[in-house]
Amino acid sequence: MATTLAPVHLNRKVEEFLSQKRKMLIGGQWVEAASGKTFDTFNPATGEVLTCVPEGDREDIDRAVKAARKAFEEGPWPEVSPAQRGRLLLKLADLVDKNHEELAELETLDNGKPVFFSRIADVPATADMFRYFGGWATKVEGTTVPVSMPGAKYLAYTLREPIGVVGQIIPWNFPLIMASWKLAPALAVGCTVVLKPAEQTPLTALRLGELILEAGFPEGVVNIVTGFGETAGAALAAHSHVDKIAFTGSTEVGKLIVNAASGNLKKVSLELGGKSPNIIFPDADLKNAIPGSANAIFFNQGQCCTAGSRLFVHKNIFDEVIDGVAAFTKNFRIGPGIDPANNLGPLISQEQLDRVCGYLDSGAKEGAKTVVGGHKIGDKGYFVEPTLLVDVRPDMKVVREEIFGPVVAAIPFSDPNEIAASANATTYGLAAAVWTRDLSTAHRMAAKLRAGTVWINCYNVFDSALPFGGYKQSGWGREMGHDALELYTEVKAVCAQI
Ligand code: NAP
Ligand code: MG
Repeated sequence: MATTLAPVHLNRKVEEFLSQKRKMLIGGQWVEAASGKTFDTFNPATGEVLTCVPEGDREDIDRAVKAARKAFEEGPWPEVSPAQRGRLLLKLADLVDKNHEELAELETLDNGKPVFFSRIADVPATADMFRYFGGWATKVEGTTVPVSMPGAKYLAYTLREPIGVVGQIIPWNFPLIMASWKLAPALAVGCTVVLKPAEQTPLTALRLGELILEAGFPEGVVNIVTGFGETAGAALAAHSHVDKIAFTGSTEVGKLIVNAASGNLKKVSLELGGKSPNIIFPDADLKNAIPGSANAIFFNQGQCCTAGSRLFVHKNIFDEVIDGVAAFTKNFRIGPGIDPANNLGPLISQEQLDRVCGYLDSGAKEGAKTVVGGHKIGDKGYFVEPTLLVDVRPDMKVVREEIFGPVVAAIPFSDPNEIAASANATTYGLAAAVWTRDLSTAHRMAAKLRAGTVWINCYNVFDSALPFGGYKQSGWGREMGHDALELYTEVKAVCAQI
């Protein structure tokens, strides 16, 4: 059962933040939507309104793009040296650390996730991302290139230049982290940005906007427009003065972004959905593989693009693993994330709760057996039980489609040589994991799995330095690591006859 909200003393700055009418950031100013409209953002643990934010739409996006364009072309941003850009990012990282508790509580209230994780994962990972890319700002280099055209001598080299004005659209599952994945590399290389947070979780992006100004980024370099995907998001993706769009969210909306971007052929990078295979071989160390596989699906209430939602287990250990994962779910204390005693929070919204419950119904109708979980919890907030399904078939919706909730389908296998093919039988290719003590099995599988990330004897290990992105319909391009610099730069070849 979900626990009710114990009296929690919020950080004073959080109360202050929520008590004021929030505005959005355009051209260095905190402004209302041109239409004057606002919308509410909710606490998913209670369904109650936290505060309201401006409902930016096409006109506001246009204002923000103009501000970003002016900042990119006129300055002072173009004159800011790489070393200064690096220092600004490091300052921002320090400010994230300095406001750690406020950001953690705000993230938990708006998104629902346990504050334990906001404190140890979301906020520190955000600071780390700004710090990591702060280091890259001075290391974005071109090359010299030998040119063999006869009859003259040439000096040729490449410049790696900022791509220009960037639109960035992010989801609600890791609001702060997603903002940092997008902003940090773009700012490191000298782009300017219009960021649109998800309608469900606009608050930490707005607080981050305050810290960006406090760090000293010039006006117009970062603009943050709150609003809905169908209006503000679509306008940003289609805007003819935006040079690049970076999107994280559903594969369905990713395809809309690609279409919208075609008007001016802006560059596009996409980080989309997944249906990641998590494979346990018979020789695996089950002491680690069982809790690791439970966390692979239940972390963040299953609302992870990398969620290990298809659990393939060798038939010899299938029952032991199923019993272990089922038993592990009893460790969860489910309730409002702001109560530090809880380690599993609500889903993000009524809509997401309905979606996940729809999959639970469809699984049951198609003949899947529920080992544990299977129901929503209570009437307040958007809680659902961690759920383990067996007796599933490859054609079932619960096996094919991204559920984005704490629901895992377990599938036994017998032939280790055929498991890669079953694991790859999906339109997605974001992540995968293998659990084995055999080095050859581990690395042979790593090579065979068609996924942007393969974990061996671990799951959901991320690092600012590790490139992340998808094969197949899980996306285009790689975020994080030095690969992310390519998303936000153009290469210019310069050739001089000497
Ligand atoms: P979504 O619609 O893809 O939303 C992601 C972002 O795109 C949000 O900022 C959203 O704005 C915006 N957006 C929506 N429609 C748009 C459009 N036509 N043009 C431009 N931007 C648009 O995801 P969702 O509806 O929140 O969740 C639905 C499903 O997406 C989930 O159940 C899950 O399967 C998947 N998902 C995946 C990830 C991931 O990390 N890969 C993250 C979240 C969700 P608004 O929120 O303001 O509408
Ligand atoms: Mg919210």
